[in-house]
Amino acid sequence: MTRSFAAACVLFAVAAAGCRPAPEPVHDRFPALGTLIDVTLYADDPEHGAHALRELRALFAEAGHDWAAWGDGALARYNDGAAAADAGLQALLDEAAALERASGGLFNPAIGALTELWGFHRQEREAGPPPDDDAIRLWLNGEVPPRVDLGAFAKGVALRHAVSRLEGMGVRHALINAGGDIAVLGDANGRPWRIGLRDPRGPGVFAGVELSGREAIVTSGDYERAFEWEGVRYHHILDPRTGAPARGTVAFTVIHHDPALADAAATALFVAGDDWPPLAQRLGVDDAMRVTADGHVELTATMDARLRFELLPRDKVIVDAIPASR
Ligand code: AMP
Ligand code: MG
Repeated sequence: MTRSFAAACVLFAVAAAGCRPAPEPVHDRFPALGTLIDVTLYADDPEHGAHALRELRALFAEAGHDWAAWGDGALARYNDGAAAADAGLQALLDEAAALERASGGLFNPAIGALTELWGFHRQEREAGPPPDDDAIRLWLNGEVPPRVDLGAFAKGVALRHAVSRLEGMGVRHALINAGGDIAVLGDANGRPWRIGLRDPRGPGVFAGVELSGREAIVTSGDYERAFEWEGVRYHHILDPRTGAPARGTVAFTVIHHDPALADAAATALFVAGDDWPPLAQRLGVDDAMRVTADGHVELTATMDARLRFELLPRDKVIVDAIPASR
């Protein structure tokens, strides 16, 4: 009896699981913050899901308008001296200033005039040479009026707001991809969200990672915006110490529970170059990976434990500057 009873139980369990319909995710994709936003979420019912997607569209549209350094939004008007910062914008500026201090100035939210000199303030940069040394020197000497540019931070902040908004609406499982800056909530129908990290120098996937709960993964890459002039490539992540594109790194990836911190940190750590491990520690970043210009990978032990490499890096160095016990 026992054997057939056990078999019946197994059959029953399979049938019961088969009867429960798997929840269907809903999707949306729209432009905002200079990139494409991709949303996948699980909601209680289709109406709830459609409502959550509409809320996110509105949230990202507002963030894109309010936090753009150029144009007619709140930050642009603040930059032009046409309006004071309201409480929301001031809180954002204060947080950015704190991160600037924590990063020793490598994340510099007042970099707007330099971004403009290099032409990266436009979606499509006009063809032309890099700025001349005199113009850069004026910026380095502080002789150019400052302009706040939250391009290295705003997507992360918007992701943070989006995740909170979803939680407030009772959505417990979601993935939002803002042009490679990704925040997740919960899981994908009982399994972790699977993320592929783009190969910084090719079309494929470099490594895979699983995220769940309230987590974000953000990459700063030199491939996102760049131009070539007389055979030299110039990209958009600028070193505030030299006024020129930061050298030595092609991609820097951070995993953190706060997408805003991850965004600012990925930019600062990209700029830091070889000296990134102590800065990661100062910023409270445990999971970090740098791909160097010569194809080497440097990463923390905790990051190494999470990644599955699809393409074998030429050389992989586990940095030990960050104590594993933290
Ligand atoms: P991300 O892709 O997050 O690294 O951000 C890059 C964008 O942030 C650039 O397009 C600039 O608008 C701005 N940016 C460039 N260099 C820096 C820097 N060192 N600190 C802060 N913002 C920067
Ligand atoms: Mg960033």
